[in-house]
Amino acid sequence: MSENTMRFSTRAIHAGQPPEAVTGAVNVPIFLSTTFAQSSPGQSKGFVYGRTGNPTRAVLERTLAQLEGGTAGLAFASGLGALVTLVESFGSRQRIVAIDDVYGGTWRLLDHHHRKFGVDVEFVDMTELASVRTALRRARTDLVYIESPTNPLLRIADIAAISKLAHAAGARVAVDNTFATPALQRPLELGADIVLHSTTKYLGGHSDVLGGALAFRDAKLAQEYAWLQNTVGAVPSPFDCFLVLRGIHTLEIRMHAHEASARAVAEVLEHSPKVRTTYYPGLASHPQHRIARRQMSGFGGMISFELSNRAAAGRFARALRVFTLAESLGGVESLADHPASMTHASVPPEIRRARGVRDGLIRLSCGIEDPADLADDVRQALRRV
Ligand SMILES: *Cc1c(COP(=O)(O)O)cnc(C)c1O
Repeated sequence: MSENTMRFSTRAIHAGQPPEAVTGAVNVPIFLSTTFAQSSPGQSKGFVYGRTGNPTRAVLERTLAQLEGGTAGLAFASGLGALVTLVESFGSRQRIVAIDDVYGGTWRLLDHHHRKFGVDVEFVDMTELASVRTALRRARTDLVYIESPTNPLLRIADIAAISKLAHAAGARVAVDNTFATPALQRPLELGADIVLHSTTKYLGGHSDVLGGALAFRDAKLAQEYAWLQNTVGAVPSPFDCFLVLRGIHTLEIRMHAHEASARAVAEVLEHSPKVRTTYYPGLASHPQHRIARRQMSGFGGMISFELSNRAAAGRFARALRVFTLAESLGGVESLADHPASMTHASVPPEIRRARGVRDGLIRLSCGIEDPADLADDVRQALRRV
């Protein structure tokens, strides 16, 4: 069976990961050596220096490409390490049209490039195609940057439609696929050029490794970015690569479990009179539910919801027993986040509120504990609001 005909879970475990050539080790060894012997000057076995390439990292990169349906993948030290390399590729005279509801760190990095280097960054509500069209008409655009589902409001952008608009305007399209993962959504197959990940989240899956990734449809484009990966130098350690690979082996099975948890929790939230709005793309009431159904094969484990104000959010967060109040997401354990004071505190309050991230918003990363325990925990915490 060729790797391209294998189904997702089989690829997650086998694609790009044959037993190691010398020893037959079934899992790729952690090659710590930073340098590799050459038989004569300039003659290597494919590896020269650890920043440029590493055998453990190479296996992770092939696996990432396989899972996203791309030709090549690149691994980074963090999601933001991947993003800075992506942004670096266009220089300071570039124009980026980015989705307005993004991870706080993404907003901070793009805003920093705007302030320090004059990069023209326009944040746009991409749930409205007309806004994307207007932004693309305003000036020549290099990069359209999508996050879908978005962090923290779980909005869905129509990746295929936006990619068409962007390509017609001569722009490249990158999609942050961190929330969905390739188990549920493959942006390259929907028309995007580049996929970005914080592998710290679901791909690693156990809250014990930081990492990032880019995956590419076009091999030539991937080569340009491999050059940048080496030039910028935000590369992961071989041990980190091993951990991400280890997480990827169980990705699909975990994503199904995360989703079962999220459904149980969404059910509780949707029926609570204390909750103003529940944001979960799997709910029929979600404004972009139909787009989510079309472009995703599942809705994932992330939910946000709104309580009346900051004090209510604080009471809820303190009352949780199974969920841990902590930043990050995508691990086996359930986490709760108060975006206004945690993950999105770097976004100025007026911008945050204008985008709908209010002070009563709570974001939940539903883990793979028993869904009934998670639902019970949310129910009892709501009683204390
Ligand atoms: C966490 C996160 C990032 C940043 O990744 P790091 O690994 O923390 O650098 C980017 N995008 C999304 C959607 C994230 O959740």
